[in-house]
Amino acid sequence: MNHEIREELFPLSKCLDFDNVEDVKTALVNTMIRVVGVDPQIASPREWYVTLAYLMRGHLSERGMHTARDQYGKDLKRVYYLSMEYLPGRRLMKHLLDMRIEPQMRAALACFKQDLDEICEQEKDPALGNGGLGRLAACFLDSMATQGYPGYGYGIRYEFGMFSQTIENGQQVEHAENWLQEGNPWEVVRHEITYPVRFGGRVVHFNDELGTESARWIETTDVIAEAYDIMETGYGDGIAVTLRLWSARSTQDFDLRYFNEGNYIDAVKEKTVSETLSKVLYPMDTTLMGQELRLKQEYFFVSASLQDIFRRFRKTHPGSLRLLPEKIVIQLNDTHPALAIPEMMRLLLDEHKLSWDEAWCITRNTFAYTNHTLLPEALETWPISMMQALLPRHMEIIYKINHLFLQEVRRTFPGDGDKLKRMSLIDDERQRVRMANLAVVGSSRVNGVAELHSRLLRERVFPEFDVFYPNKFVNVTNGVTQRRWLLQSNPPLAELICEAIGDAWITDLNRLRDLESMAEDASFSKRFMEIKDQAKKRNAAMIAQRCGVAAIPGSLFDTHIKRIHEYKRQLLNILQVVARYNRLRANPSSDLLPRTVIFAGKSAPGYFMAKKIIRLINDVAEIVNHDPITRDSLKVAFVPNYNISTAEILIPGADLSEQISTAGTEASGTGNMKFALNGALTIGTLDGANIEIREEVGEENIFIFGLTAAEVAARKAQGYNPWDYYNADPELRQVLDMVRDGFFCCEEPDRYRPLVENLLQGGDAFMLLADFRSYMETQENVDTLYRDQKLWAKKAILNVARMGKFSSDRSIHTYAQDIWDVTQMTPPPHCK
Ligand SMILES: *Cc1c(COP(=O)(O)O)cnc(C)c1O
Repeated sequence: MNHEIREELFPLSKCLDFDNVEDVKTALVNTMIRVVGVDPQIASPREWYVTLAYLMRGHLSERGMHTARDQYGKDLKRVYYLSMEYLPGRRLMKHLLDMRIEPQMRAALACFKQDLDEICEQEKDPALGNGGLGRLAACFLDSMATQGYPGYGYGIRYEFGMFSQTIENGQQVEHAENWLQEGNPWEVVRHEITYPVRFGGRVVHFNDELGTESARWIETTDVIAEAYDIMETGYGDGIAVTLRLWSARSTQDFDLRYFNEGNYIDAVKEKTVSETLSKVLYPMDTTLMGQELRLKQEYFFVSASLQDIFRRFRKTHPGSLRLLPEKIVIQLNDTHPALAIPEMMRLLLDEHKLSWDEAWCITRNTFAYTNHTLLPEALETWPISMMQALLPRHMEIIYKINHLFLQEVRRTFPGDGDKLKRMSLIDDERQRVRMANLAVVGSSRVNGVAELHSRLLRERVFPEFDVFYPNKFVNVTNGVTQRRWLLQSNPPLAELICEAIGDAWITDLNRLRDLESMAEDASFSKRFMEIKDQAKKRNAAMIAQRCGVAAIPGSLFDTHIKRIHEYKRQLLNILQVVARYNRLRANPSSDLLPRTVIFAGKSAPGYFMAKKIIRLINDVAEIVNHDPITRDSLKVAFVPNYNISTAEILIPGADLSEQISTAGTEASGTGNMKFALNGALTIGTLDGANIEIREEVGEENIFIFGLTAAEVAARKAQGYNPWDYYNADPELRQVLDMVRDGFFCCEEPDRYRPLVENLLQGGDAFMLLADFRSYMETQENVDTLYRDQKLWAKKAILNVARMGKFSSDRSIHTYAQDIWDVTQMTPPPHCK
């Protein structure tokens, strides 16, 4: 293909001049009439939103073509990011900020008496993820685009994303999230880009013309994967990164068979069965449910993505599959896409007729795997019988990978049968395939997501692998994009920072260091605190509207927002709130610092304990918020339906960031980074990235409490007894007794008995009781510091100034250098 000739034939058009208000107005009116089909005189805010989205999409598309032409022309190595989840947040304001045309667009809309913010509010959050893992994928795409790394994202276009949550009678109620109901103007459907994905059937082995053994996978049931593209473009002169999401469609001939028999209803039924594949996201974070549909989803998305990757590769490198590891790298976001490893083997062996050794060498050198959790219940395994039935050829390949791998292991560790058992891809006793072991063996690099996590991965989860593969395990600490989590979510603070030190931090977060010198500047710190106050007012308005709780004006906003999970210890926080409540009641004239304690987060629908914790928070809120003794000094709010858009309001409006997981359980956390970037101080354990945050901000600027990961392990090894703490600490005992005996739920006194029994009789797996006293004392230190607003401001400003390390730009540079071996593109010429 000769790209220069085509360039002449199809030059990319000149962009709209966004500095010319009249031109922008004309473009808006034209788009609304010609594309949306609505008369601007009567358009609703939603129709304005769709109009703006289409107008912007045109520009993104143009940037996409510049980027694609450039990449093909230069034959650059590409990164493919495979993730079952993405949480990109609303698109419209992001793209306006990236293109730096927000003021121009606002002005043009004002001429039509339209308000840009109201229009942005019309957009639904694409809820294609559970939590941190999905948000990380979105931050990474933004950083890849901004920094010019040639990347692609692949995922699933779930018709029903993460459920939306309401709180009814204090309890979580899940609702279907039909986010596509009114269409998605940001996506482009690629009807011509479809691939069959096969399931079931059986494998036949035969000798081909050359006498080599071949396998054929036959009698399969097929589903069609259809591509939907969403363009991610970076800030300023960034490039375009395509996020390609697969939607399942039934195969046509499949329907026809039934039609011919005159069985219309069954034909439609089969059609809906195959289309359920991309219907719904499993709403589980860190705990997994081994359902067949989930396995099918994983293979569906992996198979379509690899076919697409091979097609693109072969367009430019016909007949040279050996070049694959030189030209592409595939990053697996957790083990969810780990079937890509046997799938690539299958393609190379069965379709492209490579030898096993060649195929394995290519495969291993193409993949890299990111681990996201140490919790044993979250390490994915699949029943062999299920894999055998759905993916018989892959099961054969996995057995052979395992056989050859264990042979090698045996040579290195002769006579160590236990080691062999632990390293095997197959758990013989439970008859399951271990996806993490498969991902480690089939990848050239394995990374954890924070220093501590990466170390514990090597020491606790994969010690044998670490010895066997000396250079395979590396660390890449997570990060967040400052474009979303400061520039977009906190415009007043972004503006103050720009005034003080310029705008280079937007693409180079280390530049925030220049703020250090302002930490004690009286006028800067006054404006900084005024901005925090404004953000808290905005936050309070949302809280009042969403859950009817009136935050206490001027109080400390203490914020604990993330998925609800026992290891994240929302229960420890609410126990502390109860203790605070008791202190206030025991001593009404005490001047305990007023606090508004804010929670938000979803529980997996079947997670009994997490749902109880949500209810307890709401029941405690009900009592505390209405008690005349305490209501002016303590308020508790549970904000329903935590998602990116609510995070964008809750985080700038927080004083204190709760990051209190049991040490050794949170892989990294990214919420912790977002808060500190917005000037909240952290109260946290030495877990995940908290450790590195402390290193950066200095230990005098963070509140650390509780056991370390090593102490947790030692305490468990000694035989941890939660009763010791219950018996020794009267305040803790009073709190637990109240919760257990129904103080917060007199209509059903036993409601929280299981929660407390889980702590006392149940062994307190996450060691809340061991950390309770230290947490209480540290919360007192928080109160003391907050009374000194000047000192608090100084520490908050220093937190912002020292967040440079936690940009996802830094994470992406590290991946690019240490794992991907890809280089930055110089941005192609854009029209703006
Ligand atoms: C950042 C983020 C998360 C991750 O939060 P953690 O505190 O790191 O668990 C989850 N959900 C949303 C919506 C987020 O923005």
